[in-house]
Amino acid sequence: MIDPLNNSYYAATAPAWRPQAVAGDLTCDVAVIGGGFTGLSAALACAERGFSVILIECEHIGFGASGRNGGQLIPGLRWSASELEAEFGRDRADALFDLCWRDNRVAARIAKHRIDCDLKSGHLEAAWTPEDFDAMRREADYLAARFGYQSDVVAKADMANHIASPLYHGGIYDPQGGHFHPLNYALGLAKAAEAAGVRIWEGQRAGQITTTPEGLGVKTNGAQIAARYVINATDSWIGDVEPDLGRYTVPIMNYNIATAPLANADDLLPSDAAVADSRFVLNYFRLSADKRLIFGGGERYSQTPPRDIAAFVQPFLAQVFPQVADAPIDYVWGGAVAVTMNRLPHIGRRGNVFFAHGFSGHGALVTTLAGELIAEAMAGTAERFDVLANLPSRPFPGGKWLRQPLATLGLLYYAMKDRLG
Ligand SMILES: Cc1cc2nc3c(=O)[nH]c(=O)nc-3n(C[C@H](O)[C@H](O)[C@H](O)COP(=O)(O)OP(=O)(O)OC[C@H]3O[C@@H](n4cnc5c(N)ncnc54)[C@H](O)[C@@H]3O)c2cc1C
Repeated sequence: MIDPLNNSYYAATAPAWRPQAVAGDLTCDVAVIGGGFTGLSAALACAERGFSVILIECEHIGFGASGRNGGQLIPGLRWSASELEAEFGRDRADALFDLCWRDNRVAARIAKHRIDCDLKSGHLEAAWTPEDFDAMRREADYLAARFGYQSDVVAKADMANHIASPLYHGGIYDPQGGHFHPLNYALGLAKAAEAAGVRIWEGQRAGQITTTPEGLGVKTNGAQIAARYVINATDSWIGDVEPDLGRYTVPIMNYNIATAPLANADDLLPSDAAVADSRFVLNYFRLSADKRLIFGGGERYSQTPPRDIAAFVQPFLAQVFPQVADAPIDYVWGGAVAVTMNRLPHIGRRGNVFFAHGFSGHGALVTTLAGELIAEAMAGTAERFDVLANLPSRPFPGGKWLRQPLATLGLLYYAMKDRLG
């Protein structure tokens, strides 16, 4: 069946791959639920540590946010490093910085498994207002002084080196960031996981996790899996598997378009950086390997997609790049971003069930890390896992039916401030 939200450039350009059939004994050390970056990374890292692993995915590998995102690799978390230090103190800020800024696990996986996913370096954060630029400059100075982390402060007059748009008041170019073809990365992880012995089973929808005398059970539409450990890596759908965890995120729909290949693509983004701007409802964009402009903009707080996704996103593109406002649009797609109350990921362990979700639009890098840290903790060393697991989190108010409307009201308030500011 064609998923109307996944007529994506990624799906159209990914190599065909299907996992080998899973048969026989369905007992394993670790059952992983979800075939996105988090689940795949965890499964691979667990197999590397000698655990037997079965990964189930209700659709196909990369079906969720991992196969649909903007492909922007942005070091860090949704909070700036200085905000983390102000809130959590020097030691915890150090530990978070080491994990989330310094240690690029995605680059390491791509290199180790030779994953062909159009990896490019360079990320530009573009300031929507002069005040945003001042704040960015202060943060860049702080990162350099405190951690020796180097990025380029780009004055408004020099923005043309990166982006052919007069809209922005300066920016920060981070050579440690970058962009990639996310679905090809997910498929590359899946192939590496399978080669490491992970049994990957698509089309298997997990119900709730049960406790059995032998350990844990995961019942799917076709099978019953017995495991010592379970990793719930279902992100936006986590509440279907563990209902109480569903209270910690709301799904925000976000949409992308890809133009036809553009003859003047390199003029639009001369340094080939991925760009995200500083609006609350941000625009984010980059070039694909075949010189299309991939553009994300606007958010919808309703789960129903706009009737015409291209018409919904295109005005944002036209505002940033009026010179290609008429470019033909070849692909449109969208997906759910699982957002937490405080925009920090919610990661943890309850008995032998591990979970990681709510990366709040900032998951392309941190998910691979989270998966590896889960495997590390399972193998007995939880120190680094705890750095992320100790991030604070609280459920959205409002219970099952009111949670989304209440969160929406809050988000609409900020989106309105964006437009007025
Ligand atoms: C449109 C969009 C743009 C984004 N852009 C960026 C970006 O540019 N940069 C960035 O850093 N982040 C971005 N993000 C966020 C990022 O993609 C996510 O944080 C990340 O991919 C989450 O990975 P995951 O593996 O945790 O979840 P997912 O990739 O969503 O994987 C969860 C998987 O679980 C499966 N599943 C669900 N329920 C069950 C069940 N019951 N049984 C079996 N399987 C189940 C789903 O089918 C899915 O494949 C974006 C997200 C979206 C939607």
